[in-house]
Amino acid sequence: MSTDDHHPRRATRPAPPVSGPHAGYDRYGRLDHYYWRCERCGLETTDSTLERGCPRCEEGTDAR
Ligand SMILES: [Zn+2]
Repeated sequence: MSTDDHHPRRATRPAPPVSGPHAGYDRYGRLDHYYWRCERCGLETTDSTLERGCPRCEEGTDAR
């Protein structure tokens, strides 16, 4: 009996390479907000849920 070594912890959807939080500054150079950026499609948002998955990347890959 052979046992296939599956990887149960592997996510069904590979998480996009999201970097952040990055510091965002206002026009006076003061810290204003934080934002996250998807390195795959370049989407930038102040919504921290981007860390869990980029909605634009998950919709489809028509970026090409
Ligand atoms: Zn993306």
